[in-house]
Amino acid sequence: MPFNYSHTKCPKCGHTSFELVEDAPSHSNFKMWYMRCSSCKTFLHASSYININSQIEEVKKKLGI
Ligand SMILES: [Zn+2]
Repeated sequence: MPFNYSHTKCPKCGHTSFELVEDAPSHSNFKMWYMRCSSCKTFLHASSYININSQIEEVKKKLGI
């Protein structure tokens, strides 16, 4: 798969490569994943450290639904 084939650009520096980093924001009991520019480290998006969708699938499997 080509790297960054969507040609998404950083809003700050215009760089086109991004990285996911794990962090725990202040006042949070949960870890988060941050999507950020790999060049200037500008924050772009956060998502839960725990993948809720995969957990729901596991529960559904256990319940047989
Ligand atoms: Zn940037």
